[in-house]
Formats: sequence, C-alpha cells, structure tokens
Amino acid sequence: MKMSDLFGGLSGLMKGLSGFMPQDDPDVKIMNAQNEINDLRKKETEIYAEVGRQVMAREAHQFPELLNQLQLVQANLQEAERKLKSAQEEKKAKEAARQAEERALTCPSCGNYNPEGVKFCQECGTRLGVPKCSACGAELTPGARFCGECGKKQEV
Ligand SMILES: [Zn+2]
Ligand SMILES: [Zn+2]
Repeated sequence: MKMSDLFGGLSGLMKGLSGFMPQDDPDVKIMNAQNEINDLRKKETEIYAEVGRQVMAREAHQFPELLNQLQLVQANLQEAERKLKSAQEEKKAKEAARQAEERALTCPSCGNYNPEGVKFCQECGTRLGVPKCSACGAELTPGARFCGECGKKQEV
C-alpha cells in the first residue's frame, strides 16, 4: 500500500471531525462561530454574576424581591448539602455494618464463611463473633486471656 493511499483512507475516516475539515467549509465556520458565541456568553454570564454579587453585598435593600429569592435558594442549598452529607454518612455506616457482619460470620479459625444466625462455625465448631472485653468492650482476639486495652482478665 502506498503512503498516499493510507493517508487518503485515514482522512476519509476523520471526515466529520472538525479539526480535519477544511477551515473554509461553511459547516466548520458555523461550528466555530457557535463555540465562540457559547464561550463569550458564558463569560458574559460570569461577569453579570460577579456584578450581582458585588451589588447585593452593598445594596441588597434595593432588590427586596431578588434578595428574598436569593435567601430562599441559599437556604435550600444548605438543606440540600446537609441531605447529601447525611446520605453519604448513611452509606458509610451501612458499609461498615455490612463488613462487621461479614467479619462476624467468617470463622476466625478456619476462615469458613457461615450463614447468618449461626453461633458456631459449621466447618470446625469454633465460636463465631468477635469477642469483646467484659469490662471496657474493646474487641479481643479470639482466645485472649487478658484485654489488650484495659488488662482485665477474661473468662475464656
Ligand atoms: Zn471454622
Ligand atoms: Zn478491656
């Protein structure tokens, strides 16, 4: 295959991608102009927003209606952010509970994963569940005779 054939094939593939289209194509001109307009509109809006912020900071009393709307939006925004935060915390707590449950069902001796509700490993008979210190409630390694946290002797 000649190099020119390869290039011809490639440019055929690229047709429709603006970067490879001739700049005097009306479609390209339209697209470029639309992009430029969108960019400029965005900048214009940003400047208006900044003007608004500065005016509201100084003379909010001149725009009572807008100030009302602004305060309502800001209150709703705070509420929405609070909802987001509590939903994220809920998700984290659920995940932690799921992991704790999984840990409780996994046998510490043989690693067998047991169905929910069983108290002893169905594979080797080891007591399931993470043992806790009878005095301070710290988690203990199974079979520990003393609490690593407070030193209390455990009934094993
Ligand atoms: Zn086991
Ligand atoms: Zn303890």
